[in-house]
Amino acid sequence: MAKILIFNVPAYGHVNVTLPMTRELIQRGHEVIYYCTEQFEPVIKKTGATFRSYPEAGLSSQVISKLAHNLANISALLTNVSCILTDFVIKEIQHEAPDLVIYDIITLWARIGAIVTNTPTVATYSMMILEGVDGLFDKRILLGTIVDAIPNIPKLLWNRHKLAQAYGQDTVKFPLFPSRGDLNLVFLPREFQMDTSFIDSSFCFVGASINPALRDEPPLSLTTDNHPLIYISLGTVNNDNLAFYQQVINIFADKPVKVILSIGKQVQIDDLGVIPDNIHVFDSVPQLQVLNMADVFVTHGGMNSIQEAIYFGVPMVVFPQQTEQLVNGRRIQEIGAGLVIGDHRPYGQVSIKTLQDAIERVLSNAHFRENIELQRNASQNSGGYRRAVDEIEEKLKITKVKSSIR
Ligand code: UDP
Repeated sequence: MAKILIFNVPAYGHVNVTLPMTRELIQRGHEVIYYCTEQFEPVIKKTGATFRSYPEAGLSSQVISKLAHNLANISALLTNVSCILTDFVIKEIQHEAPDLVIYDIITLWARIGAIVTNTPTVATYSMMILEGVDGLFDKRILLGTIVDAIPNIPKLLWNRHKLAQAYGQDTVKFPLFPSRGDLNLVFLPREFQMDTSFIDSSFCFVGASINPALRDEPPLSLTTDNHPLIYISLGTVNNDNLAFYQQVINIFADKPVKVILSIGKQVQIDDLGVIPDNIHVFDSVPQLQVLNMADVFVTHGGMNSIQEAIYFGVPMVVFPQQTEQLVNGRRIQEIGAGLVIGDHRPYGQVSIKTLQDAIERVLSNAHFRENIELQRNASQNSGGYRRAVDEIEEKLKITKVKSSIR
């Protein structure tokens, strides 16, 4: 049996997809030590893995939330954290002598640690691969992204230089993100991913990775009726859009629909004023349970939310809050599984009419549901977390054979 170290960032979107895989590894007899920040200790321990916290490195879900609107900002943060955490990672790998290191594709410190210690790697992707995809952005989006990036470029390059000096040029080859592994596990079906030459035989698309038993979700007791159930959430990071939540309340107050609105922890429920009886507001909901009942999902377009909606066959209205979510939303629209709204900079703004029309169209038009069913089948046929573990075990076998030949 193998010893495996897993490294991740403190963000639900990145951690959630790895939990069923971690549990499965343990059930098959492997030993797993999982590194993240203390906030994630309960969900990680639930898998049976040993939890270890990173030392203080300025990395928290709050910091990620603050910077997440700007991808260049996040990249600067991650290289900065790598300058602080890589020595720790190297020491842990040297001490534990694992057979394999698994890391999320933005956990650069783990990739560098694994290269320095010559340890085989598996990278986990909770997002679509955008590198090399043609025609992703129109001019306005591209220009905005470049303008956002400019102030962060000196910081990014300086951190990369420091990492190259400390650990070698090979450890920080571009692209830094996604940080590829020897095996690359992507938690979405191949049918969802757009074509790009970045994808080679080291990539394996396993579909949604979902095991409701592993989520820290107290049951939500809500009576169902004959009214359509609209579930609305902007996820756990870019969710401080008070104006949008107020629009939702204005549109649906006392209409013949039931709305579940998850607003996160940055906006307070009291800020929303009087809430009508048909609208149920929470700072967090058991999303899998809610999706299991929902007729339409208004989502920011985080990849976990999208894959979870596909898993439960719920068509979407995607309202992106940043560029990666915009790309995800456009993909949903392209495959006919929903619509994207507010798909322009500045993100997070949409008229009441556009929002209302999109929800009504998705609710009333059967073809959205038919197309989501196609994706649902593709996801189910991709093998999920069990296939992910099959691939990891295959990788472990090959690695063992190679080291016994040496
Ligand atoms: N989530 C949840 N309850 C909520 C809102 C979100 O359990 O009220 C979970 C959701 O199921 C998903 C994750 O948080 O697994 C959000 O990840 P995603 O990639 O969609 O977006 P992010 O929060 O990273 O922007």
